[in-house]
Amino acid sequence: MLTAVCLRYQGLLRLASEILQDFYSTLLPVGPVPALYDYPYSVQAFNQNRGTMYFNVHVLEALKDKPVLRLLAEWYVTYCHELAHNTEAGHNQRHENVMHILLVRSLEHYGRLLESYRDKYGTRTVAEAVAT
Ligand SMILES: [Zn+2]
Repeated sequence: MLTAVCLRYQGLLRLASEILQDFYSTLLPVGPVPALYDYPYSVQAFNQNRGTMYFNVHVLEALKDKPVLRLLAEWYVTYCHELAHNTEAGHNQRHENVMHILLVRSLEHYGRLLESYRDKYGTRTVAEAVAT
């Protein structure tokens, strides 16, 4: 049983790492590669010291019944949100403007990434994707 739990968690880590590495290398490679952390609350991600992004693996558990493409979309917006904190620490109009620019600039790259994930995962949920 413990082995099964570990393997399942390992699958979530693999999927999360794949998504973050793809974002980093194809969208906006700024600063260090985003890292993963496990925090038992709904904080999706945070940006430490205007440069290092952390994404919460725990959130994947809540999204396990959602399609992988939904996770990709949510983390795409979150990635741009956290990256905007490199410019503006607060949540204000300036942060929103920077985030908007980042979303628009990377949209074409995101579209190609979305197509590749659609080809790879189709309509599979996060749970189904990590089980294979
Ligand atoms: Zn924020």
